[in-house]
Amino acid sequence: MSTSGGHDDRLAWAAGEISRWFPTSARDLPWRRVRTPWRALVSEFMLQQTQVSRVAERFEPFLEAFPSPLAMVEAGEDAVLAKWSGMGYYRRARMLHAAAAAIVEQHGGVVPEDAATLETLPGVGRYTAGAIASIACGQSSPIVDGNVDRVFARLTADGSTPGAKGREARRWEEAEVYVAAADCPEVANEGLMELGALVCQPKAPQCLICPLARRCCALEAGKVGEIPPPKPRPKKKLVEMQVGVAWSGKKLLLARRPDSGLFAKTMFPPEAEAFPSSAEGRPLAEVRHQTTHRDVRVQVFVFPDGSKVSGAEWKHPDDPELALTSLASKIIALARQNHEDGSEEAASS
Ligand code: SF4
Repeated sequence: MSTSGGHDDRLAWAAGEISRWFPTSARDLPWRRVRTPWRALVSEFMLQQTQVSRVAERFEPFLEAFPSPLAMVEAGEDAVLAKWSGMGYYRRARMLHAAAAAIVEQHGGVVPEDAATLETLPGVGRYTAGAIASIACGQSSPIVDGNVDRVFARLTADGSTPGAKGREARRWEEAEVYVAAADCPEVANEGLMELGALVCQPKAPQCLICPLARRCCALEAGKVGEIPPPKPRPKKKLVEMQVGVAWSGKKLLLARRPDSGLFAKTMFPPEAEAFPSSAEGRPLAEVRHQTTHRDVRVQVFVFPDGSKVSGAEWKHPDDPELALTSLASKIIALARQNHEDGSEEAASS
């Protein structure tokens, strides 16, 4: 724990200010309307690396399909992947299913309410465990995510670079002091994240309307624009793929990706080299796709209608049960356009 009285006092003061600010400033979001640990768990998995507005659209239909951990386990991993379609980062969907299985097997189907037990679930790290324990269960558990890190760095004028030695540990200590001072941990913690998302934003902090402005060290020192300094970005890994598209009527040839690795277990056009006569492939386009760590370039080839590939199946690409990444959907849209253009040409000649 920090030993600085003024520092800790500032954090405790912030807990009170944010707890008063949040109830009148909170966005109306689906997972806030009805609070249960399961809904909180699902929302936290969805919100990792997906925009709030997109999750807001998808949240209730997803919960309708999987209203409990048991319902998710009974539906199976493929059904979860299919419902996750288009949200990206499919590993989260697989981990959510694994967490549901652990809840059913080890906790009688009831989501644990304390952070230490939550952290034993697959895919649940310290932040997610703290968020569920505090926001859904009212426990005094600290949370640190990107928003919290930025607010505390500015509030305390911590000019260290994200990732610098000792910074993360310091942030967790501050989050503990902060939440321990709160009358309602759920309000203080959720309000802290909301303040980071709506007011103390990375590029355009709105200090004029910020409830922390009176005692914000970065504001006082005129260093808001410098804190936090930009994080050094690791170079993205280049991934090159070659895939083939082939139609049979309105159905497209799709194969399930391997159980691990990029786009694992989702449906994707087969690798071009898997076609028996790969030389028959005609180049159609190159599709590029960025993930946090990868720059993916896919060369798409068109193969004759009715081509066969071992392990691939004819699927209607609009089937809502298909687990399709946004990259697969992009490739399918191109393939469909090409197919329709080809059909029109054939009809007019
Ligand atoms: S006063 Fe400005 S920099 Fe300080 S916490 Fe508020 S928005 Fe962030």
